[in-house]
Amino acid sequence: MVFPNPLSLILVMLIFIPLERLLTLRREQGIFRRSWQLDSTYFLLNGIFIGAGLKLILLAALVLSALIVPSEFRSWVGSRPFWIQLPVVLLLSDLGFYAAHRMFHKIPWLWRFHAVHHSIEEMDWLAAHRVHPFDQILTKGASILPIIALGFSPDVIAAYAALYQWQSLLIHSNVKINFGPLARIFASPHFHHWHHANHKEAYDKNFAGQLSFLDALFGTLHMPANQMPEKYGTNMPVPKSYGSQLAYPFQPDVYKPVKQATPQEP
Ligand SMILES: [Zn+2]
Ligand SMILES: [Zn+2]
Repeated sequence: MVFPNPLSLILVMLIFIPLERLLTLRREQGIFRRSWQLDSTYFLLNGIFIGAGLKLILLAALVLSALIVPSEFRSWVGSRPFWIQLPVVLLLSDLGFYAAHRMFHKIPWLWRFHAVHHSIEEMDWLAAHRVHPFDQILTKGASILPIIALGFSPDVIAAYAALYQWQSLLIHSNVKINFGPLARIFASPHFHHWHHANHKEAYDKNFAGQLSFLDALFGTLHMPANQMPEKYGTNMPVPKSYGSQLAYPFQPDVYKPVKQATPQEP
């Protein structure tokens, strides 16, 4: 998540704090739950690193686009009506998000970075910001690079970016909102809370950022009806402070293989 200034923090607080009080999922969880200071630090500082990384991605997308995609095709794409471009952008960007997110779960050295996000044990709008910058830059990069390179218009990309930001806050929130049949299409709090569940049957499920039907399509959907997880988090030993979490993936002993006991000679 990237928010440009402290004013956006106030706006987000004005919307999500009352929303979480009105439609509370877990009553026992207060505004100042454990680790709220850590997640506020992510909110305030992460944007500096992520903004710089995304500028590089943008540059790469423009170079790639000029080299590979014919300019006539880009102009044709960018001149389609807004309401045609937007669903296509949502689909393409979330396919990129899905692929990158799944890789972060499957490849051990990438999982070190993503485990930081999965260290969240109490879900709310603020916790959405606890993402290692490297993780956020790569995942966001995979979702925005194709849509910029293909020439979708800047106002469509801006609308998509706004939708992504607000939906990401909502799906992490401590809220009970029923999306009804739309939950089969769009990612909801129910869908993403299960992604964060520390339940064996929920590991490596629900990778989509915005379109839950992608998980149904690729066989990774786990959304038990009328049931929310009992426990969130990861079994990885992720430290508790901002600096140590940023350094955590670079520690050489993070993935030290567990030594098997050697069978004793008879
Ligand atoms: Zn994940
Ligand atoms: Zn999440």
